[in-house]
Amino acid sequence: MRQQIVAGNWKMNKTLEEGIELTRAIVEKVEKANGLVVIAPPFPYLRDLGNMLKGHKHFHLAAQNCHQEEKGAYTGEVSAEMLASVGCEFVIIGHSERRQYFNEMNDVLAAKVNVTLARGMRPIFCCGEPLDIRAVNMHDGYVAQQLIEGLFHLNEDDFRNVVIAYEPIWAIGTGLTASSQQAQDMHESIRALVSEKYGKTVADLTPILYGGSCNAQNASELFSRPDVDGGLIGGAALKSDDFAAIVAALK
Ligand code: PEP
Repeated sequence: MRQQIVAGNWKMNKTLEEGIELTRAIVEKVEKANGLVVIAPPFPYLRDLGNMLKGHKHFHLAAQNCHQEEKGAYTGEVSAEMLASVGCEFVIIGHSERRQYFNEMNDVLAAKVNVTLARGMRPIFCCGEPLDIRAVNMHDGYVAQQLIEGLFHLNEDDFRNVVIAYEPIWAIGTGLTASSQQAQDMHESIRALVSEKYGKTVADLTPILYGGSCNAQNASELFSRPDVDGGLIGGAALKSDDFAAIVAALK
C-alpha cells in the first residue's frame, strides 16, 4: 500500500514557546499513526522542534518553502542545503499562498523541486485551481499544467520521492471543503496523469494528499476515498486535539 501522510503547515503562526508547547502536545496525543506525520513550522523553529521530534516514531520535519538557488547573495532567503542541515526531510513547494503573494510561477517551482531533491529531501508539491476555473469546469487541465510544468521534468527515480498535495484554492482557510467526491475525482485524474508520464507502478506509489479546510470532522470521509492518501492541513494543524484526530483518521 502506498504511504499515507498527514502534514501540518503552521504557516506564519506561533511563537517559539507556543510552537514547543504545540509540538509537545501533538507528540503526546499521536501515539500511533497509519502513516507519516509531518510538521512544517516556521523556519526559526525548525532545529528546536526537529530535535523534539527525533526518536518519535512516525514524525518528520518539513520546511514551508526554500529558495531555488543553491546559495549566494539572496538576502533573507533559505536554501535547501540549510534545511537539510537542520534535519528537514520534506519541503512544501508551490503552496497557493506562495504562488499568489510571492508570484512563484511553475518554472521557479520546478527549480525549487530540483534543489530539494538534490539535498535528499522530498518535495510536497502543491497544486490546485481557483474558484473561477472550477466554475467553468477547467480544473483538471489547470492542475495538469501545474504538474507538467512543475514536476514532469523529473526522471522516474526522482519522481518516486515526490508527494503531491491537491489544494483547491477556494477551500483553503475558507471553511469550504471539497466534497470527498470532488477530491477523489481530482486525485484520480492526477494519478492518471502521473501514470501516463511515469507508468502505473510509479503512479500507484505516489502519495496524493488533500488540503483545504480538512478538519477533525471531515478527515475520515476524505481519507476513505481510494486516491486520497492523507492531508496537508493548515488551520487544524494549530490545535493538537484536532491535528491528532486528523492523524487518527488515516486509513
Ligand atoms: C493549507 O494552507 O495548506 C491549508 C490546507 O489550509 P486550511 O487547512 O486552513 O484550509
